[in-house]
Amino acid sequence: MLNALTIDLEDYWDVYSRDWLGIEIEPTEAVLQNTQWYLETLKRFDVKATFFVLGGVAKVFPNLIKQIAEDGHEIASHGMGHTQIFKVDKEEFRRDIVESKKLLEDLVSCPVTGYRAPTFSIMPETKWALEVLAEVGFEYDSSVFPISGKRYGWPGFHKGICKVELTSERNIIEVPMSTISVVGRSVPVGGGGYVRIFPYWFTRWALRCIERQRPGIVYLHPYEIDARSKRIDIKHLSLEDQRKAMRHHKMQLRNRKTMREKIIKLLSEFEFAPIRQVIARCGNMGSWAIKGAG
Ligand SMILES: [Zn+2]
Repeated sequence: MLNALTIDLEDYWDVYSRDWLGIEIEPTEAVLQNTQWYLETLKRFDVKATFFVLGGVAKVFPNLIKQIAEDGHEIASHGMGHTQIFKVDKEEFRRDIVESKKLLEDLVSCPVTGYRAPTFSIMPETKWALEVLAEVGFEYDSSVFPISGKRYGWPGFHKGICKVELTSERNIIEVPMSTISVVGRSVPVGGGGYVRIFPYWFTRWALRCIERQRPGIVYLHPYEIDARSKRIDIKHLSLEDQRKAMRHHKMQLRNRKTMREKIIKLLSEFEFAPIRQVIARCGNMGSWAIKGAG
């Protein structure tokens, strides 16, 4: 089975500062160094992946995006500034994805047809975003997490790659994140944080179960291999927000030291390709109709 390997290309300090500290900083050099490790490792295993590139990173490090494309990987969009969709309206969302699509297409001179939302924020309440994506020319989206989560999730959504029939009668292909049912609960599998936190044997067992039925979707971030930390100033936050920000930061740093080894095991034990190629191989795709997407 050909599984999809995806990398959400963003800088940890940039995204963490925006999401948790309410401060805007530029992507740091760390994203360059960490992405180089991924590029070298993927070359070693002769694997191509899909990179969902954040517009903010592409603006600061355009040559990195060109290098990724020259290495034969698929370039897709992760929006401009990592703002979750439930924080914007339709017009702001449209501007964000149009800008990021154009920025990336100008850099790599080839059509950008895939999108992944910041923190999987396509959920029942933001399903209108799929309509906007189809309108501006995206062919597939890979943002739905078919779980009932605290921060994201679309419980009950189709588990495999499917054609979403929109109210406008347009279609978009959805490539949902992989989950497995464990004692009646949908457990996420193959995502960066989950790969870091679960022992490797669990990820391997779960991905083997998934690939018996459908392609597995693995997503990783450059920073997940980076165990370096730095002092964070959180004094401007309320006490409750300080606690939340620190809890999230602690969770994000967990098991980063063993992540390279886990990624190397995944690459040597499973077959991976970019999403575009995995979709092309999908014969009998399920469909999912959206009613009242406006
Ligand atoms: Zn992201």
